[in-house]
Amino acid sequence: MQKYEKLEKIGEGTYGTVFKAKNRETHEIVALKRVRLDDDDEGVPSSALREICLLKELKHKNIVRLHDVLHSDKKLTLVFEFCDQDLKKYFDSCNGDLDPEIVKSFLFQLLKGLGFCHSRNVLHRDLKPQNLLINRVPSREKVGDGGRGGWVLLQVVTLWYRPPDVLFGAKLYSTSIDMWSAGCIFAELANAGRPLFPGNDVDDQLKRIFRYPSMFPFTLMILDPMDTLLGTPTEEQWPAMTKLPDYKPYPMYPATTSLVNVVPKLNATGRDLLQNLLKCNPVQRISAEEALQHPYFSDFCPP
Ligand code: ADP
Ligand code: MG
Repeated sequence: MQKYEKLEKIGEGTYGTVFKAKNRETHEIVALKRVRLDDDDEGVPSSALREICLLKELKHKNIVRLHDVLHSDKKLTLVFEFCDQDLKKYFDSCNGDLDPEIVKSFLFQLLKGLGFCHSRNVLHRDLKPQNLLINRVPSREKVGDGGRGGWVLLQVVTLWYRPPDVLFGAKLYSTSIDMWSAGCIFAELANAGRPLFPGNDVDDQLKRIFRYPSMFPFTLMILDPMDTLLGTPTEEQWPAMTKLPDYKPYPMYPATTSLVNVVPKLNATGRDLLQNLLKCNPVQRISAEEALQHPYFSDFCPP
């Protein structure tokens, strides 16, 4: 720990506080993430350490670099590349207006990072704006602290970016979990920071997904209150749904409205891509690789 000089606190994570710090030798600025471990735990589980060491090898320009892992008795400190801000803070600073080209560029970079993780069988599982880090110049987005794998600690994770299969208790996670989250983040980008499905609990979350937007005041003005977006999935659309551990039936809301009303600033190809990310049936959800080939990006020049 003597290697780093702690500067200010930059964030509060699920597992502990994040500090800005300086490498005393190289003067490099980094982000230190202290991982809290339960007192009655016997230090760091070796499985967790093994996974973190795997993360160290995950090198991609759209994935936050994990420089180092410092491990002493019961403390674990992760040394990350420092980024200017996260997407949540960026939304707060953009005053409800995001250039369509920036939206496209952010989604592209998110999909690039995800595609890289997924090709190595690493899932992120907790994608949300606070976990997407941005370097201002040249607006480069990075997927933060990806792939916790099976490392489960007590945490309050937001439901807003969670797919219906996981909300219904699916235990077998696959890459499709991140693709749903990417869809929610895409819609949020297109609406300059307005979350798509801000549910209060699991039941409310599912209702919003199936029945949106009749419970979502800001769109009521544009939409008929009887309009729904995705609609409740039918057995035909998603045969495995009723067999999920926490499945319970919901009223059969039909899919009626088009995404035009939900993401008015997004163009037609963007809406088509979004529709393919927001498939309730995880099997039908588009992959990161496929999404990058989507016509939405045909006129995009990667930086
Ligand atoms: P967790 O995902 O475990 O809840 P995070 O890694 O997202 O915690 O950290 C919480 C916050 O700290 C982030 O939302 C971000 O604002 C800030 N932060 C985390 N890592 C970095 C980093 N590498 N550079 C800059 N800020 C960071
Ligand atoms: Mg986070």
